[in-house]
Order: sequence, then C-alpha cells, then structure tokens
Amino acid sequence: MTDERSNDLFKRAQAVIPGGVNSPVRAYAAVGGTPRFIERGSGARVWDIDGQGYVDYVMSWGPLIHGHAFGPVVNALESGAAYGTSYGAPTAAEVELAETLVRCVPSVEMVRLVNSGTEATMSAIRLARAATGRDRILKFAGNYHGHADALLARAGSGSLTLGVPTSPGVPRSVVAQTSVLPFNDAQAVGRTFAAQAEEIAAVIVEPIAGNMGVVPPVPGFLETIRRVTTETGALFIADEVITGFRVGLGGAQQYLDFAPDLTTLGKIIGGGMPVGAYGGRRDLMEKMAPVGEVYQAGTLSGNPLATAAGLANLQALQEPDFYQRLDTRTQRLAEGLRRAAAGVGVPITVNAVTGMLTMFFTGGPVASLDDAQRSDTERFARFFHAMLDRGIMLPPSQFEAWMISSAHTEEIIDETIEAAEAALRILM
Ligand SMILES: *Cc1c(COP(=O)(O)O)cnc(C)c1O
Repeated sequence: MTDERSNDLFKRAQAVIPGGVNSPVRAYAAVGGTPRFIERGSGARVWDIDGQGYVDYVMSWGPLIHGHAFGPVVNALESGAAYGTSYGAPTAAEVELAETLVRCVPSVEMVRLVNSGTEATMSAIRLARAATGRDRILKFAGNYHGHADALLARAGSGSLTLGVPTSPGVPRSVVAQTSVLPFNDAQAVGRTFAAQAEEIAAVIVEPIAGNMGVVPPVPGFLETIRRVTTETGALFIADEVITGFRVGLGGAQQYLDFAPDLTTLGKIIGGGMPVGAYGGRRDLMEKMAPVGEVYQAGTLSGNPLATAAGLANLQALQEPDFYQRLDTRTQRLAEGLRRAAAGVGVPITVNAVTGMLTMFFTGGPVASLDDAQRSDTERFARFFHAMLDRGIMLPPSQFEAWMISSAHTEEIIDETIEAAEAALRILM
C-alpha cells in the first residue's frame, strides 16, 4: 500500500495552509501519520489519490447520512448549477427547506438559514442574550458548538483532540461570561442557577453529545435544564447540528422528548454543502432583523445550490422505517465491536445511538468528558492505523463520533467488524 501522493500533497499543503488542513480535525495530529487526500466517494466508500479505497466512517463529520455522491443530491446540484449559483434574492428552495425544518423539528416554529453550524450557534447565542437582556452562557465540558468566541471554553472535537480547549485569541472578558459545567451533571446545573440565575441568558447543550465521542444524556439531565431555565426565564438552546435528522426526523428533541426554546442545525440539512440553521419559538425568532432589532445576515445564506442539496438529502429521509434500519445497523456494529474486543480481552465501551457511535478504549461507563478522557488514546491511535491498513477510515481521534449512513449495508458493517477483530488482535 502506498500513500506517496498523499504525502507529497500534504507537504505542499503544509507550506501554504496551516498544518496542511482547512479544519484542524482533518490532520492526523492525534494518531500520527499523513491524512489521506480524497479523490472521490461513492456510497459508504472513499478513494484516496493513491487509488486506495476505504469504508468511510467520517462521512464529512455528519452531513452524508445517505453516503457519498448520493444520486438525488448530485442531481439537485447538477440541474441547479445551470440556473446560477447565487442571487442575493429570495428563492423557492429556501422556503421549502425552512418549511421542511419547521414541519420536522417539533420545537421549531420559525427558522433562519445560515452557512455553518458555527454561525447558527453564534446567532442563537446573540438572540438569547438580546431576548433575556442577560450575558452569561452556560455550556458543558466536551460539548462543541463551533468556534465562536463565547463557546470556545473547554470545547470538544478538534480543540479537545489538540489539547487547546480554550483558544488563545478569545478575549478573557468574553469567556468570563461563559460557565462550563460537567456534562450529565444535573446537580451542577441546579447549583449554578441557584447562585447566578439572574445573569444566565441561556444553557446550550448537545442533547446527545457527539464531540467528545458519543455520550448520551443520563435521565434527568435535559429535564433539569428545561425546568431551571423555564423557572428563571433563561433559554434552553439544543445544539442539534449533529443529532438533527440523524437520530430521527425530529432530532434528539423528538427522540428524547424535550422542548428547547431554540435549536441549532447544520450538517445533514445541507447534504454536504455549507448550511446551518437556527430556529425555535416564533416570539424569539421575530426578534431577528428585519422584523426585530437583533442583527444577523449572510451574503450566501439560503444559497440556492446548498438548499437544493439539503432538500434532496432530507426528502430521502422521509421513507418509512429509514431510522429503524439505520438504528439496526448502528446496533449491529456496536454489538460486533463489543464482541470483537471481548474476544481479545481489550477493555472498551461502545456508546451508540442511531447513526452515531464511539468505541472508547476504556472499561467505562462513559457519561462525561472525564470518563471519555480515561480512554487509552495511544491504543486508539494504533487501532486507527490498523483499521486504515485494513481499508476502514475512522475519524482520526478517540473523541469523535463514527457516522453511519444508509449506504453502510449489513455486509459493510460485517466487513468493518471483521477488520476490527483483526486490528484488535494485533494490538495485544
Ligand atoms: C459541527 C458542529 C458545530 C459546528 O458546525 P460547523 O458547520 O463546523 O461550523 C456546532 N455544533 C455541533 C454540535 C457540531 O457537531
């Protein structure tokens, strides 16, 4: 196996792009080696520029719930491009996408389209501060909400992987307005509200965490957030940029039955094109310009190609049993990985929720960032490369979610389990 062309390109990339990548999570900083440069993808597989094929569990970090080069998305882009790429004026497709989001996501009565998840959370925070007249934001360690200043305190994903959970360049005065609590710690939420309720504008949370690896909420956690925010007039922001349309059509809020005030979306709703959205209660959303005074804008927001791709992606999710089948495959992979690890005596914990999964190299359970960080990351790095050698591309960090798509057939899942059995054996 050769990675000659990826190596050459990575050298060129590093000369002109910091670290050779346009998003830090793509570098193999946590696992060592050279990131593979991808030439094309189809279904559950990608091929690198050296001609090597892989079963892909990165899936663009979430958007590709139907796999790579999904026919309806490709068609929407091909036919759309001929009409022009952007007008800076309203189009029918953005109305249809907004209507689809409002119809599917239970608490969303109105929605604004933006270009990324980062923009969505940043805008939701601004709205929450404007609506409450308060400044403090409460977030949870290991949750990642994009790279806006106020939310880069003890963040998950790349900042966790690279060990810079709070970035230099973020003004101290900005993160001073952000309180960070342990994920799944309802008592800490209660205590913080008891002490600071009149300061808190919003609690923002990944309802099923994906950015420290997959960590579902414990019973009572989201319920406590809902109760104390309602009691104190603070807002509950559910960051569903990963979970939206992944764990079900109505996202985690439908899957787990809770009602946030604001919801942020991204990833799947753009079908692999740059899209984000924030939405929620009508009275809140009507505070946004031009109806209200809270300003937020975007030259390419609601872009016709991005919305066409997003609509094509979402339409194909509405077939009956889609999520049941996705869940069956996710659980099949989870079970297979547990069996494989038990067979060789490697302690692991697999957290799996419909369409997303993390295999932690720790005996577990994993319910918080502290638990996740007990994982043997050195062992993960060796496992990652042993899998890559066997044609399976995992996210290059212990603290990320493997994304399962409808293109990951039972055969592909079983191929993955077999590779994991062999990879785990050589770790011992
Ligand atoms: C990916 C992600 C974001 C940021 O989205 P971008 O499109 O990368 O800016 C925000 N929140 C969560 C939960 C995410 O997973």
